[in-house]
Amino acid sequence: LMQLSIPLNFIGFIYREIRQGLTDIEQMFDLLDVEQEVKDKPNAKALQIDRGTVRFDNVQFAYDPKRPILKGVSFEVPAGKTVAIVGPSGAGKSTLSRLLFRFYDIQSGSISIDGQDIRDVTQESLRSAIGMVPQDTVLFNDSIAYNIRYGRVSATDEEMRNAAELAQIGPFINTLPEGYQAMVGERGLKLSGGEKQRVAIARTILKAPPILILDEATSALDSATEHEIQSALDLVSRDRTTLVIAHRLSTIIGADEIIVLKDGVIAERGTHTKLLKIKGLYASMWNRQREATEAEERLRRVQAED
Ligand code: ATP
Repeated sequence: LMQLSIPLNFIGFIYREIRQGLTDIEQMFDLLDVEQEVKDKPNAKALQIDRGTVRFDNVQFAYDPKRPILKGVSFEVPAGKTVAIVGPSGAGKSTLSRLLFRFYDIQSGSISIDGQDIRDVTQESLRSAIGMVPQDTVLFNDSIAYNIRYGRVSATDEEMRNAAELAQIGPFINTLPEGYQAMVGERGLKLSGGEKQRVAIARTILKAPPILILDEATSALDSATEHEIQSALDLVSRDRTTLVIAHRLSTIIGADEIIVLKDGVIAERGTHTKLLKIKGLYASMWNRQREATEAEERLRRVQAED
């Protein structure tokens, strides 16, 4: 019986390894929300990045033909600038980022990068030009070093550590007994939402893409963590064409343009100051968030006094 149990244990071990591998892949696909297959044109060329200007031109899109999500959306993210998308939940903000990655093809209009329609270039070249810091980062069951290096596998140890420092996750890693070799993920260390996001930022710093999509987490982070993440994000997005899908308006005050999406169209657009002046949707969202933050702070003060 002993002789049998060893191979059986071993098979169990192999089985769990494979299952785990599959789970990682499943999570990855969930994250990317891949459903529909988009194919390269037979004569597709590699995307040629000049300075990385992104244009959405009268974009119409629906996941389900009966329910249009975008009804003619046009905007430009000039090279090196930051445009933030805000709007009520379900307005189609994250959809814009999926369309830029070309996970779906649009029904009409066009999306282009440096004048090239994204349907005319290879998906590989398109996706390698865009970096994404998602709401929720998938971590692999591997070392923290592996998870960061995933941004650019050829990166040296030093480059990987520099990226971690810039993303403000270095000091945290140095407190771990095994440092960069610490295992993370399902079977290892569980990282908090803020720590995972910093791993994603470090990956993006290593990848150094000309175009960046920041999909801000909906979940509230404590203000110290939020501050650290914000400064890491400001650093990665500097001089890089950046599209921010924003939930917390406090993080986008400095955006070159803010676009307010509602019911499939652009309801308002402009800088923070301009949008507050017109006292429309943005201004009311801003006031609501400010009141909520103030109420939270009051509550915290009262609790601290008790
Ligand atoms: P939130 O602020 O809540 O994240 P959002 O503005 O980013 O919202 P999207 O995720 O872009 O909203 O979704 C826009 C609409 O499209 C939603 O009503 C959603 O239900 C729908 N939708 C999103 N993904 C799919 C999908 N894969 N298939 C069908 N409908 C979808």
